[in-house]
Amino acid sequence: MSFAKYIDSLETSELQLTTIRTKLLQELFESKRPLTSDELVMKMDRHGVSAHRATIYRDLDYFVEKNIVSILKIVGEKARLYELNREHRHHFKCMKCGSIGVFSAPGVEKELAKLEKTLKKQNGWLVQSHSLKLYGLCKTCNKNDEK
Ligand SMILES: [Zn+2]
Ligand SMILES: [Zn+2]
Repeated sequence: MSFAKYIDSLETSELQLTTIRTKLLQELFESKRPLTSDELVMKMDRHGVSAHRATIYRDLDYFVEKNIVSILKIVGEKARLYELNREHRHHFKCMKCGSIGVFSAPGVEKELAKLEKTLKKQNGWLVQSHSLKLYGLCKTCNKNDEK
């Protein structure tokens, strides 16, 4: 989805297009990983967008409410992580340094689709979504461990 599409979705959600909202969306759009509210506040500062922390939090809540952004829940992560709702992806978290990576896995999707069919047949469960989070060591942390 292009950035313009997100701006459109703001407009269709009847959210006023303020500078802060546009910048917040832009940061989330350009980021390759989920961002905490603190990081977003810092980025707003860097852009010279003067905004109260409370305003930023409220805007993020609006985005979540309107399904434009989701809050990522990851074990051991105290800060709220915000992520733009884009194409379906999965997450990896390094348990040592806490870095979070994002990946898509078409093969996994195929297998899960099969599993979903089986579950429907065997248990009558209609699966509507899934999330996959992998935990381990990132490349850097893994290297350090080997020394
Ligand atoms: Zn790491
Ligand atoms: Zn998936």
